[in-house]
Amino acid sequence: MEIGTGLIGRRFRQKRRELGITQNIAAQRVRTSQSQVSAFENGNDKALSRTKVEALAKLLGVDLEELLSRQIQDRPALKCCTNPECPGNMPFARASVIVFQPRFVKTNESHCRLCGEPLVAECANCHAAIQPGLHCGLCGAEFVEPKTDFTGESSEAWAARVRSANQAAASFPQPAVLLRSDTGGGSPD
Ligand SMILES: [Zn+2]
Ligand SMILES: [Zn+2]
Repeated sequence: MEIGTGLIGRRFRQKRRELGITQNIAAQRVRTSQSQVSAFENGNDKALSRTKVEALAKLLGVDLEELLSRQIQDRPALKCCTNPECPGNMPFARASVIVFQPRFVKTNESHCRLCGEPLVAECANCHAAIQPGLHCGLCGAEFVEPKTDFTGESSEAWAARVRSANQAAASFPQPAVLLRSDTGGGSPD
């Protein structure tokens, strides 16, 4: 049974422990070996056949269908962090508004490594899969909410200051391709 990220094995182990069932007992009940149950729980999804996984799920009261559907969501996808404070998201001044160039990563992780906020794989507005850029290609919504409230300095100064702080914080190289002129704006620099 091929699954992928080890999520299912972890859930089985957790349920088994909650029920106070040893790997040995679980293995006996589904007619396999303790070492195979152990391998499965450790993320080797091929250690058990689908039939045995289903039997084990029944024994432990694990909702296999729900796990499998979550598994699909956990597959690697292009994601970005939508937190304007995230050091991965680079601000650029466009007139009096700050727009953010998000950092895109292909990952099955659910949270940003830089700031800990959830990563998104789709546009919050129209649910299209995200593509690198400032905006959703389908509906035009920004991936990171533009910032309009800053005081005491110009938008250019704010953006430049935060960019250099972010670059230091995230060791994040300056993106080579920025601000493809999607709303008629010019170069960010
Ligand atoms: Zn982040
Ligand atoms: Zn959209």
